[in-house]
Amino acid sequence: MSSYYSLKKRKNPNLLSLVIPCYNEEKALPFLRSSLEKVIPTFPCKSEIILINDGSTDRTIEELVKWASSDKKVKIINFARNFGHQIAVTAGMDFATGDAVVIMDADLQDPPEVIWEMLAKYREGFDVVYGKREERVGESWFKLASAWLFYRLMKILVHKDLPLDSGDFRLISRPCLDAIKLMREKHRFLRGMGAWVGFPQTPVIYKRAARSAGETKYPLRKMLTLAMNAAISFSPLPLRLSLSLGIIIAITGFIIGLTAVIKAWMHYSGLYPNLVYNPGWATIVALLCIIGGSILISIGILGEYIARIFEEVKSRPLYIIESTYNFNQRKEKK
Ligand code: UDP
Ligand code: MG
Repeated sequence: MSSYYSLKKRKNPNLLSLVIPCYNEEKALPFLRSSLEKVIPTFPCKSEIILINDGSTDRTIEELVKWASSDKKVKIINFARNFGHQIAVTAGMDFATGDAVVIMDADLQDPPEVIWEMLAKYREGFDVVYGKREERVGESWFKLASAWLFYRLMKILVHKDLPLDSGDFRLISRPCLDAIKLMREKHRFLRGMGAWVGFPQTPVIYKRAARSAGETKYPLRKMLTLAMNAAISFSPLPLRLSLSLGIIIAITGFIIGLTAVIKAWMHYSGLYPNLVYNPGWATIVALLCIIGGSILISIGILGEYIARIFEEVKSRPLYIIESTYNFNQRKEKK
């Protein structure tokens, strides 16, 4: 993927920002803290940790404030309510001051040790270094097949450079980050946006660990929403699909209608007395269903796009911050 870029070698970043969204992570935070306190001193650069409390309903914010009060490097953005993972990461990226940013989960599923390799690729000149999950062995064929299909479909719908089999765990350089920050759309799919801005990217392979504590905040419902956001916000293809479906069905209907007329004429004219003619109520009912269904589907797809236009023209802020900790001065709300 990288062959057509000319990479420029560079030094380690002066400051590395870790962006970590937290939603009901009180159980995972102690593990995160002890792991980061071990790994960060070994990094070849200074770092800051930006933790976003995404409207947690447990004691996450208390834990975070405790951590921040003992360490000035630890900065907190406290949202007024739950805005979702992609928005929380966006806020972290807005507030990060480092020359490079690493986005990771609070649950240690993205091992901080991998950041070492990411920094090595950064020095080689890559602007996006994304964590690519090692081949998953021992998963059901259904899971493997659906993941395979999902990522290929996303590649068609979102962007041809969308990295396969990777989540949001990645290092992003300052120039690339500044480009992504210009995109203020409400329905966000950061992986797709990263591919869209088009800086040199490369994977590092890693093994995704099990959650350190607590449970996943990405149930199937949220996963499907993310997939739909990705498909609809990035591509007019679904709209065009409904148009083609409509055309195909209309043509079929026309042909069937024509045949019916010809048959009726043959029957009643008496020229072909042997022709069996049965008034096709079944055909009519089937056609009605097909046509009605496809009209509703098309309207539904249209509705999705219009809902998104509505969200965008309202141009509300992406998130509301209740309070921040350890930032020198409170930045303007975005
Ligand atoms: N998260 C968040 N807001 C949400 C859902 C999740 O900030 O509405 C955070 C969560 O705390 C975690 C990260 O996003 O740090 C990824 O979520 P999770 O680990 O539950 O997802 P999974 O790894 O299971 O896909
Ligand atoms: Mg996780």
